[in-house]
Amino acid sequence: MGPTTLEAPRRIRVLPDHLASMIAAGEVIERPSAVLKELVENSLDAGARHVEVELVAGGRRLVQVSDDGCGMNADDAVLCFERHATSKIATPDDLNAIQSYGFRGEALPSIAAVGRVTLQTSPDDGGIGTEVVIHGGQLRSVKEVGRTRGTMVAVRDLFFNTPARRKFLRTDGTELRHSVREMTGLALGAPVLGFRLSHGGRMLFECHPVGTWQERAQSLFGREMLLRSIELDEADSGVKLYGFLGRPGDARGGYGEQYLVVNARPVQSRLLRKAVLDGYEATIGGGKQPSFILFLHIEPSAVDVNVHPQKREVRFRDEREVYQFVRDAIRRSFAEVGAAEPDLASASLPLSADRPAPGEPGTREAHARTGVAQFWSKRFGDPAQQRTDAERVAEETPPYAAEGHEQAPPPPTASEKGSPQDGPPPFRGSNDRFPQGKKAPRRKSEGAEPQLALPLVSREEPSRAGESGDDQPGAESLLWQFQQKYIFVSTREGLWIIDQHVAHERILYEEAMSAFSGQAPASQRLLFPLTIELTPEQDAILEEVLPMLESMGFSIQRLSGRSMMVDAYPNSVHRGDDGQLIRQMIDDIAGVGFKRTGLKEQIATSYACHAAIKAGEPLSTREMRWLIERLFTTTMPYVCPHGRPVVVKIDMEEFDERFGRT
Ligand code: ADP
Ligand code: MG
Repeated sequence: MGPTTLEAPRRIRVLPDHLASMIAAGEVIERPSAVLKELVENSLDAGARHVEVELVAGGRRLVQVSDDGCGMNADDAVLCFERHATSKIATPDDLNAIQSYGFRGEALPSIAAVGRVTLQTSPDDGGIGTEVVIHGGQLRSVKEVGRTRGTMVAVRDLFFNTPARRKFLRTDGTELRHSVREMTGLALGAPVLGFRLSHGGRMLFECHPVGTWQERAQSLFGREMLLRSIELDEADSGVKLYGFLGRPGDARGGYGEQYLVVNARPVQSRLLRKAVLDGYEATIGGGKQPSFILFLHIEPSAVDVNVHPQKREVRFRDEREVYQFVRDAIRRSFAEVGAAEPDLASASLPLSADRPAPGEPGTREAHARTGVAQFWSKRFGDPAQQRTDAERVAEETPPYAAEGHEQAPPPPTASEKGSPQDGPPPFRGSNDRFPQGKKAPRRKSEGAEPQLALPLVSREEPSRAGESGDDQPGAESLLWQFQQKYIFVSTREGLWIIDQHVAHERILYEEAMSAFSGQAPASQRLLFPLTIELTPEQDAILEEVLPMLESMGFSIQRLSGRSMMVDAYPNSVHRGDDGQLIRQMIDDIAGVGFKRTGLKEQIATSYACHAAIKAGEPLSTREMRWLIERLFTTTMPYVCPHGRPVVVKIDMEEFDERFGRT
């Protein structure tokens, strides 16, 4: 310990305001999106009808919020930067039922402590207003300016005076994503107001004032997403819950679009989130997240928003009651949709009904679960369900687990859209789910299949390789698919067992990585270009990764607004998926946020994982051959990008040993 500990204790001192603000700023303002949130909340409290936000460099260079609210006179324009200066509460009683977004009076001083702030404001349309400039808590100037009613606050160079905090900021793309999320939540909470958000001069979203939350949600998330969701509207004494629930089959890795709005305030409530997820019950497979947009209305005195300086957390007077109400409302809404279509009961695609699940039959839980199962299976049809099941098998079954329990998914339905069937490589038809059987009769067999000696790199011409092998007598004895999951290969040394999913993953991963280092991959035009509608958040992410996706062989065009057209896929992607692949990749990235390093690896891993053949997909001999040949041209054929084994070898000696032949 240093000598200071031996000295007489220092006297207690009240911190100078400036220092106190910097400390407070650490709690309130941790990134540009927090600036956006505080400023927009102020605009809403000021009765604005339109709020416009402009960001530069993910908000690190500039966060600017303009409104047409009540504005401030010259005195208030200076006073608002004082700590605990607020016009929103006056007495302790006011704290018990907060009706405004702000009340702590610390946002503006906190922001001013860590950025370069310019505020312009005017309380009327007289054309005269006040401009206040504060840099790092130091008042620089106060002067009269011309402006109409309303307020504009521009915050430049956030954390310019606190390098330690600046270092914690992520890439522009990630920071932007946080801002978009924040703004989306605020816009959901106030559908009757207009919002605009632009980044670097490009408009990310524009919401016109509308009458209902449904319209607002649609303008933010697109019709498509909402059509696939189920609407909920439940009320109990003093509490009301409404919104959209994403279907369980659409749940994805990373975070879905999850928004909770309590009394018009977007919140992050653990309690509510748990209630929602518990409402979904066992309908969602491991590690996946459903999307939901839920609004809770509750008497203001029954909820405390003064829990955290950022006002994100809320606490309810009766936590248990709220939890149960929300959970049960969600279960009920699933059950009701199921009950409304009783003929669904006979549908043969139960989601969770035939899975062993906790909850005895006859309980409300069991009832709800059946309802959910019925609803999803009928309403959203089979293919998605099959895919989900296949994905589940892929994810939940550890490699080489004892067989016997897995149900083989139904054979793939030939795609509605059909697909080109010509030539190699085999994984090509974008909408092709490997239609099986009924192939045109092959030309004559090419004689006995050569004894395979792995690595199984074909010596044949690619075109011949593509034609040979399939449905060939004898071929099956050397190469066959087991449980639609593993490929068995008979070799001179013994038996090789290859996990079809991870093998394809390894191939795709390496292709993506070499694409990033400049090796242009083969790309194919889609017969039916896909149109995907992105949420503002997804759009912000796509913007950042677009060049990388293009170098991988995707071709993505902006049609208008947040509508994108995907018209080419990398060649090795084996099937189309109405844009799911791109969305899943975006979701993965959204889930982790960009690290400044390793972005390429993250994208390649995500791509490989989602684009690869799943367990449960039948493969033709030709497809298996292709897979094996490609696998052994990768640098690490034995381990997948997640570190799982790709190949398990059983040598002849082991066979012999087991049979006591040695
Ligand atoms: P709080 O919102 O908790 O009151 P802030 O530091 O965010 O604290 O703002 C301080 C005060 O400045 C507010 O109470 C309000 O009177 C005034 N103010 C801030 N932003 C605006 C705005 N956009 N329009 C009008 N008044 C504003
Ligand atoms: Mg405020």
